[in-house]
Amino acid sequence: MKSSIASVLGLVLMFNLNSGFISPVSQHHRIRNNSIKIISTPLHSTVVRRPETTERVDQVRERCAAATRDAQAARGCAENTGDEWWRDESAVNILGGRSITASSPLRVIITGGGVAGLVAASACHAAGMKVAIFEQASQYAPYGGPIQIQSNALRAIQRISQKCYEELLAAGTVTADRVSGLKIGYKKAVFGGLGPGYEKGDWLVRFDTLQPALDAGLTPTVVVDRPVIQQILLNHGVPEGTVRIKSRIKKYDELGPGQGVKVTLEDGTEAFADVLVGADGIWSSVRKQLHGLDKGADGAAASGAAGGALNEAEARRMAKESVLMAGGANRRFSGFTCYAALCEHKASNIEQVSYQILLGKDKYFVSTDGGGERQQWFALIREEAGGVDEEATPENPNPKLSRLLNEFNNAEPGDANGDVWDDFAHELLKATPEENIKRRDLYDGAPLISQGWARGQVAICGDAAHPMMPNLGQGGCQATEDGYRLSEELKTVQNTNQIESALDTYFKKRIPRTTAIQIAAQLGSDLLVDFDKMMTIPLVGPFFLFMTQLSMPFILRFLYTPEF
Ligand SMILES: Cc1cc2nc3c(=O)[nH]c(=O)nc-3n(C[C@H](O)[C@H](O)[C@H](O)COP(=O)(O)OP(=O)(O)OC[C@H]3O[C@@H](n4cnc5c(N)ncnc54)[C@H](O)[C@@H]3O)c2cc1C
Repeated sequence: MKSSIASVLGLVLMFNLNSGFISPVSQHHRIRNNSIKIISTPLHSTVVRRPETTERVDQVRERCAAATRDAQAARGCAENTGDEWWRDESAVNILGGRSITASSPLRVIITGGGVAGLVAASACHAAGMKVAIFEQASQYAPYGGPIQIQSNALRAIQRISQKCYEELLAAGTVTADRVSGLKIGYKKAVFGGLGPGYEKGDWLVRFDTLQPALDAGLTPTVVVDRPVIQQILLNHGVPEGTVRIKSRIKKYDELGPGQGVKVTLEDGTEAFADVLVGADGIWSSVRKQLHGLDKGADGAAASGAAGGALNEAEARRMAKESVLMAGGANRRFSGFTCYAALCEHKASNIEQVSYQILLGKDKYFVSTDGGGERQQWFALIREEAGGVDEEATPENPNPKLSRLLNEFNNAEPGDANGDVWDDFAHELLKATPEENIKRRDLYDGAPLISQGWARGQVAICGDAAHPMMPNLGQGGCQATEDGYRLSEELKTVQNTNQIESALDTYFKKRIPRTTAIQIAAQLGSDLLVDFDKMMTIPLVGPFFLFMTQLSMPFILRFLYTPEF
């Protein structure tokens, strides 16, 4: 509890300090009648939420289904054939380094074809570099439905590829036009029943994500299905065949200053490049070697690309393996297991709310508009790492769903704590088939300030560099900023001898911002855990809520910047 109070103060202080660098609030844009009215910025005039007509709903759902089929078939990816450019050692291993020219561009190998790898590859490709991605998986199987591509990440994408940016906006659903915030999940008396108390579903904190974006001259946040994001980056960000599937990197060797890196895949294939970028997720093999971690620090946690398990059996194996890997990799179990699903359902609050968290004791229920009359939800429940659900039986054919219906029970006698939940969680759960629900324990890690993200001609990005809790919806967005910054620094390299210093600059420019965001996401989740206890202490509860409400605009202004 003490740490939570300190966390609130730290969070508020941190963001108020940062807010000193933000330009004053403009009064030109306002949310009116739940639709965006853009008065003075033609750039954003196309970014309005389209009405959810039958045609639009079908279009969004069909696009997602088509992209999922592409992901399952690994369309746009290739297997290794034997004649790839990266097999040529003589192109990079040159004593004294080599000059970078249009005919002899920088050669970059990226491990991991998730958001971080695909964006970094798109950015390097756009800057004229030769790029290959080595992805361990044979197909894409992302965890969870759509994600928020927030205003800062949209700007990074726009700078990398106008086409990808336009495609994302066309495919996405604007969420910034409606309210977001925290609600109390159940009726709660405060101060031993002496305080005013809350009814279930009452707003505790509300915030507007539109104004901070527009103030910074950025495009409002959109949600886009993960397979659609992958499809767009594969089709428009990188040349066909850039992603080599079934290519798990085992180790790398530096060949000498400015002389590149030799990458060895698990099947013994050797590849050569000037630069190696580890975008291989939280259990990164590249980071393991970069930081000299334990043998057990990495692993094929999931055999689907983008961190997703291919099936239920694999999800169970992942839950157990992650516990072992976390120790070796020095990652932190957040204390939460997370059930996630996308349901086809027109939410009862769709016109008013785009994102909400229903807070409870040791659990919370997050939901967001996924577009196309679908809701994406996450149920975070505090429990030991490595837990798995019962196998389905004839008596209990839907073990995940039945657990969640109990955890968020909206009828007497309520959940195991006796709390009767707001109807909204049940509304979404009841619209969700069991097979759509995926479960995963959530891990994050301390900022790698002293260990660094780069050494020699090797660097890391995305979750490999800064795994964070999902509360701020910034993990993928920060990975996007990383990709942009990495390519900007590599663009300055005129001779391969300069790579080490370019990668060091990349790390130094990125670490302050990602550290602040990682800490904020972690504090946010720690606060949510202790929320129930805090509400029972006089002054602390109201103070916590007041400070959170006060801080949100500053937090959003810190996140939504065009400079990263
Ligand atoms: C519940 C939840 C909600 C979220 N919501 C949002 C949101 O709204 N907005 C947002 O921006 N972020 C969100 N995030 C965070 C976001 O999903 C992650 O930060 C992002 O996916 C990380 O991407 P990555 O490419 O770094 O890692 P991953 O997606 O994990 O990709 C790593 C890839 O590397 C491959 N790989 C691993 N090891 C090797 C190896 N040795 N050789 C070759 N390949 C390898 C893996 O197969 C995988 O494909 C959310 C996360 C969660 C859990």
